[in-house]
Amino acid sequence: MKKLTPLIFYVLLIVASCKVSKSSADITNKSINGRGEGNIRILIVTGGHGFDRPAFFEMFNSMKNIEWVESVQPEAQKMFGEETINDYDILVFYDMYEPIQEEEKIAFLKLLEKGKPILFLHHALVSHQNWPEYRKILGGKYYEERLLQEKPNHPYSNYLHDTDVDIKILQKDHPITKGLSDFKVNDEVYGNTEVLPGVVPILGTTHPNSTYTIGWEHKYANSKIVFLQPGHGASIFADDNYRRLLYQAIEYLMKK
Ligand SMILES: [Zn+2]
Repeated sequence: MKKLTPLIFYVLLIVASCKVSKSSADITNKSINGRGEGNIRILIVTGGHGFDRPAFFEMFNSMKNIEWVESVQPEAQKMFGEETINDYDILVFYDMYEPIQEEEKIAFLKLLEKGKPILFLHHALVSHQNWPEYRKILGGKYYEERLLQEKPNHPYSNYLHDTDVDIKILQKDHPITKGLSDFKVNDEVYGNTEVLPGVVPILGTTHPNSTYTIGWEHKYANSKIVFLQPGHGASIFADDNYRRLLYQAIEYLMKK
């Protein structure tokens, strides 16, 4: 969490990146990354916040049976109501974006009624500050003082970059965390964030600047939802434990 970068920056990056395709022809050919049939197809939603693009996408490229397409906001939101969204098994949100149009909200809620699985990562907790339902969909909220239009009944949240974080596995037998033990990473923590009652906490930390619960899963309408707060930059993207966590979250979301 740092600064909002102009959208044009991302648009230029997209144009410059040959990994990225938004054409539906590629999707129907199942050749987004040229890996063939039977793969899990992911739409990665970005925009509104900078990140280490090569390190982030290399992480997804390292995962077996995964194909991905990036869509930068607000384009991703426009897809919510279109046929092409059905080409994706899972939506991964790594954006930090606002606003969203009324018809896009309705289309998003319809996707959730249909059961589209969603993985929210890191600064996606900060998106849609002024759309109350988003907090319920995600299962929590980062209260960003600069973006909230009204003073909330909750303390404002805060962040700390480049800090060593002890990540605790809170559910050892959960499909998302199976085989993983507590681990340490250098990443960013968020403090004073809200975690809604009813979510199943799967990750925690005793870092003094962080909210204790930093990963959870729950259900909204008919959709499985997972949120993993860690995920700021290159050091964690390269971490084997984090990669396994992410992959197992994707596998979990794919199961009916
Ligand atoms: Zn961050």
